Amino acid sequence: MARKIEVTTRMGCKVNCRYCPQKLALEKYFAADKKRESVLSFEKFREYLDKIPRDVQIIFSGMCEPWLNAECTDMVEYAARDGREVDIYTTLVGMNHEDYRRIRNLKLHYFVLHVADKDNNATIPVTEEYKSLLKEIVEGHKSGRLPITSISVHGQMHPEICDIMKEAEGVPVLSEIYDRAGNLESDEGVTISQKGEKKGSLCCTKCNGFSLDDNYLLPDGTMLVCPMDWGLEYELGTLETESYEEISEGKVKQEFRKRMRSSKYGPVLCRHCHVSQPELAYRASCFFYGLKQTARKLLKGDKTEMKQAAEGAAQNRAEEVPQYAEGVLQN
Ligand code: SF4
Ligand code: SF4
Repeated sequence: MARKIEVTTRMGCKVNCRYCPQKLALEKYFAADKKRESVLSFEKFREYLDKIPRDVQIIFSGMCEPWLNAECTDMVEYAARDGREVDIYTTLVGMNHEDYRRIRNLKLHYFVLHVADKDNNATIPVTEEYKSLLKEIVEGHKSGRLPITSISVHGQMHPEICDIMKEAEGVPVLSEIYDRAGNLESDEGVTISQKGEKKGSLCCTKCNGFSLDDNYLLPDGTMLVCPMDWGLEYELGTLETESYEEISEGKVKQEFRKRMRSSKYGPVLCRHCHVSQPELAYRASCFFYGLKQTARKLLKGDKTEMKQAAEGAAQNRAEEVPQYAEGVLQN
């Protein structure tokens, strides 16, 4: 699984989805310093990107609709042309036809659309301009210019876009609404929530076990531990003054990992998060996934790839055993 940085191009998202802890994030972000940078500039984005290793996926999503920053298309273009693996998650709010025509010429990894719903759970204005852009995007998808990877909708699709979206039939539609690790004020209407506190040693199925390498980047260069940290409890450091490596293996992450392994070190968000999993179950699923991959390669008859996969799996197991032993001892 690749390392990821989810880029927040500005603080404060006017889409204001009912199931998004915007208020909490804003309060916490400006709690200590009201003058904190609220918008990521293109110059700063370039500066931070230069500090991020090339194997890290760059994801435009984060704590705000990316196109609520007027320089978003420049950033996407820059990252993609720099040879980065780029994902886009967008509601299209703030995007126009010209932006779309620029990004559809790029090599993107994922292009995920969050569309308007019937109950206005996401405040996406269904204007003629929005429908016209959506239509062009769906046509682009059909012609293979920029395929839509998946569609997200908070409830039932808005009736005025159903005909347009019919043309994207076959694209997976996700409508789960999760509780953001307990960071929502109310869980009314939420379809996935974690009731009660999880016990024992936990791994993250989203952030690669204990690696915790799916981080958020905020407009002032701050990196957060994970996409559930809307209360900004775990600021890992800042790319403004530190290197990615310093932040990635800094004290905050190490402390976070200890707490994942055992509650005796203190509370941790993962105990209230639907994507955490008991360590044993996580390691078993990784093991079987590795086996499945090796079997696939065996069936394909590619001996070189098969040998590499087997060696990789053996190496991973060798690294995991001491880590697992350490976890057991700490508990
Ligand atoms: S568009 Fe995304 S960031 Fe903005 S309010 Fe909705 S879920 Fe939150
Ligand atoms: S709270 Fe823990 S389990 Fe949930 S996404 Fe973050 S690191 Fe992963």
